[in-house]
This record gives sequence, C-alpha cells and structure tokens, in this order.
Amino acid sequence: MGIELLNITKKFAAYTALDNISLSVASGDLVALLGPSGCGKTTLLRIIAGLDLPDSGKIILENRDTTWLPPREKNVGFVFQHYALFRRMNVFENVAFGLKVLARDKRPAKSEIKDRVEHLLKLVQMDWAMKRYPSQLSGGQRQRVALARALAVNPRVLLLDEPFSALDAKVRQELRRWLRKLHDEIHVTSIFVTHDQEEALELADRIVVINKGRIEQQGTPQEVYDHPANAFVYNFLGNVNVFHGRIRNGWVILGEQHHVEAPDELKNLEEKDGKAFVRPYEIGISRIQSNGSDLLGTITDVRLLGGQIGLELECDGFNTPIEAEISRELFRNLELGRGEKVFVTLNKVKVFTGDYEI
Ligand code: ATP
Repeated sequence: MGIELLNITKKFAAYTALDNISLSVASGDLVALLGPSGCGKTTLLRIIAGLDLPDSGKIILENRDTTWLPPREKNVGFVFQHYALFRRMNVFENVAFGLKVLARDKRPAKSEIKDRVEHLLKLVQMDWAMKRYPSQLSGGQRQRVALARALAVNPRVLLLDEPFSALDAKVRQELRRWLRKLHDEIHVTSIFVTHDQEEALELADRIVVINKGRIEQQGTPQEVYDHPANAFVYNFLGNVNVFHGRIRNGWVILGEQHHVEAPDELKNLEEKDGKAFVRPYEIGISRIQSNGSDLLGTITDVRLLGGQIGLELECDGFNTPIEAEISRELFRNLELGRGEKVFVTLNKVKVFTGDYEI
C-alpha cells in the first residue's frame, strides 16, 4: 500500500478538523481529496507530510510507520497552492536544491545532480528555461518547476495542495491533463487536493469526498459520480436541482403534487421527508406532452453554456425555479425563448432521506 491512514483525528482547540479519517491509497495511484472550503483537506495533507502532528492515528507510507517522523525523514514531495520557488535561484538551482542539501553520504555527485535535474526539467517540459528566474516565468510554468523540484528527491509520495487553483481556467485545464499524463509515466503515489469537482473527476484514479473532517464517500470517479452515497456527495459533484420531497407509501411528492415513484429502498416507508435531486441535463423539454406527469413550465431565462443552452423554468406547483440544460439543436428546433411555454419531464430523480445540510 502506498499510503495508509489509520483513524486520524485532529482538533484545533474545541474544533474537530479531522474526525477519525482512515484511508488507503494503492502504490502508484493518483487520488483526489475533494471537498468544500474548510473541510480539512489541507490539514490532512500537512499531517501526511509531517508538517503537523495528528492528535491520534497512524500514517503508514510505503509500509513504514512515519507518524512521528519529522518532514525531512518522511521523504514526501509537496507542491503548494502558491508558487513556493526560491526567487533568487534560477530554475536549475531551484530543482537541484533538495539534492544539494542532502547529508554528504546521501548526496549524489555533482554530475549526477545535473543529469537528474535536466531529466526532470525535460519531463515537465521546462528544460528550455533552466537559466531563468521565477519572476521570468508564468504561473503555470512556475508550478511545473515546483513539481520537478518536489520530484527531485525521489519522494515516496507526492502531495499536491490545489497546485493549479491560482491559474486561469484554460491553463488549469491544460495543466491537469498534462499532470495526468506525467503521472502515467512516473507512477508516484500521489494525493491531489482540490475543491473543484471537474478537476477531481478528470484527473484522479480515485476520489475521496470529504465534508466537515469526515470521509463521505470514496471510489473511482465514475462510481462516485454515478452512485453518490448521499445527498452531500450528489450535491457537491456538479450542478443539480434540489427539491424538498415527501416520501409516502411508495411515492415521492415534489412541489405541490408532482408524484414520482420512490426508489426501492424507500418504498416501504410510510411517511418521511427527503430531498430529491435532478441534474439539469436529466430534464426533458418538449412542446408536446409526453405523459400525464409532465410539468407545465414557462422559460424565464436562457443562458449560453458553451456547447449547451441553460434554461430557467417556472413550473406549475413548484415555488423555486428549475434549471435545465439542452442541446443548441433542440433549442433551435423547438424555437424556444424567454416566455415560451413547454412541457418539462423530470428524468432520473434521485431521492435521499437523512439530515444532510445542502
Ligand atoms: P480550503 O479549501 O479553504 O483550503 P481546507 O479543506 O483545506 O480548506 P483546512 O485548511 O484543512 O481546510 O482547515 C480545516 C478547518 O480547520 C478549518 O475550519 C480551519 O479554520 C481550521 N484550521 C486549520 N488550521 C488551523 C489552525 N492552525 N488553528 C485553528 N484552526 C485551524
């Protein structure tokens, strides 16, 4: 196992930042820790790196208990959110730094350091900038150098704390694709912290969803996206319409009187409150009524969402607007626009009971 965390708890005074977290990361995997601001992601990463100590629990890295080891003995590479390059050193010197400060018996020969740094800079496609200083690089370039620097000491594990969050959306997307490819080449066990679900879904082998210091769910991106364990995960992984629902005798009642069949596991409930979720792209829009359960809606807003069109709808019997996403083609063919009346079908309604805060 690459990383094993056993029952990690961390409190700051009375506040529990991490609440009994256990997690296993297979050697060579890239795992995303995904969660809202303040949920404890950075605290967990700092504890793995040895920059903070847990109140209780164990940290096993590549089968070695490192819980009480200082950071420099853990052999962990760390890339932070903000570029942490040394301003007065050029790119080559930055990447070589970790090797040059090793104890004499562990330090490679000068020529070996040179080869290794050049190799790493090629890997992150920054070999052309060896003599440049950080101030002469773009944000994305600096983060690639920071990654090469973290990899220089052959870390047992690599920890990345929102490394691309200060960059603009386009560069960010390019860099995460590039990081995925790089990871496929070097296979170092890695944990990537993000609050961006798209980034986690695209980049990671596995996703761990954290909320208020606890793990809500873990699995492959597809497992977590297609089978969210609870309302929090469903809501956090992408845009969604949330309705209050009343579950009664095999039905879920949304709005004033819209009935959808209750899922099997909730069929036997006599009566209970729940929350119902529908993704905007699971909402059908038509000029013709397809069945008796269609809602009658009026388009109140139209938005261009890249390749799709976003519609805001006011539907009879619902007191909050419903968001739908349809193709441009359908939008054109149905000659839709603000004020038009349409039939609205709620496909794939997902219902959860429980007291999750949304
Ligand atoms: P973000 O995405 O905003 O960086 P995060 O998930 O990384 O958030 P953490 O930085 O791990 O969150 O913080 C978790 C919680 O612990 C927060 O409520 C934070 O205020 C609290 N916290 C973190 N460090 C300390 C500290 N040194 N002293 C007191 N409270 C702290």
